[in-house]
Amino acid sequence: MSIKIENLTYKYMIGTPFEKTALNDVSLEIKKGEFIGLIGHTGSGKSTLIQQLNGLLKPTSGEIYIDGESITSKGANLKQIRQKVGLVFQYPEHQLFEETVYKDIAFGPKNLGLTDDEIEKRIKRAMKVVSLDYDKYKDRSPFDLSGGQRRRVAIAGVLAMEPEVLILDEPTAGLDPRGRDEILYEIKNLHKEYKMTIILVSHSMEDVAKLADRLIVMYKGKNILSGTPKEVFTHVETLENIGLAVPQVTYVVKRLREKGFDIREDVITVDEA
Ligand code: ADP
Repeated sequence: MSIKIENLTYKYMIGTPFEKTALNDVSLEIKKGEFIGLIGHTGSGKSTLIQQLNGLLKPTSGEIYIDGESITSKGANLKQIRQKVGLVFQYPEHQLFEETVYKDIAFGPKNLGLTDDEIEKRIKRAMKVVSLDYDKYKDRSPFDLSGGQRRRVAIAGVLAMEPEVLILDEPTAGLDPRGRDEILYEIKNLHKEYKMTIILVSHSMEDVAKLADRLIVMYKGKNILSGTPKEVFTHVETLENIGLAVPQVTYVVKRLREKGFDIREDVITVDEA
């Protein structure tokens, strides 16, 4: 499923003294199956942007097309859009409420009117991807699990809806380094398993660079850079100026360039970072 954003502007609290332009004339395209890292400092507009993509916020001006169909026009079918575009909010585990892991993950699929067999199949698949053993955890209360496990249950709940686009807003926030690596590994896995389009929102270059095919860098409501991690890292100065910590290797390259070495872009590999 492809996404096209045209001249998107979004203002909060229009007409009040607190009016704030959170997105300023953003145009971009995301192709089916791409793994995008959406990166930028706090307040750069990332959350505002992703909330437009499943209709939670309506643009002040501009258009969004999903598979060529406008989701911003009057007649848009928001229910269908939310089924296609799954959004995992920050700290999604705060939204768990059922008595068992099974029931929590089943909540969304049940509303789709699927058969019990199909629901069970989807739950098993989603739990496998987030590395939760089905038999061991299905009857457990989400509230007896660790923070990282609870988050995986919440992610499985969105996965079980089998959206075509999955958006994850800072999925590693607040986890310890091990929990962080596990979740990132699972996200990589689910991109393979479900072949969905993924937008991973983060303020950590290290995290997104490991996973994404392409980075989109946001600054003050604008998408200022886009390209493969390698391409984006060649803009060390810009990234430094907007407060994004870049992987170590880019500093090495920068120093070598300052010393007059002609370093080609294609020698920079993220793995070396
Ligand atoms: P990010 O996700 O990159 O941290 P946000 O999209 O949350 O950025 O915020 C973009 C800008 O919009 C910021 O200046 C922020 O203060 C402002 N903003 C976000 N949410 C609201 C809101 N509900 N009301 C007013 N301003 C907001």
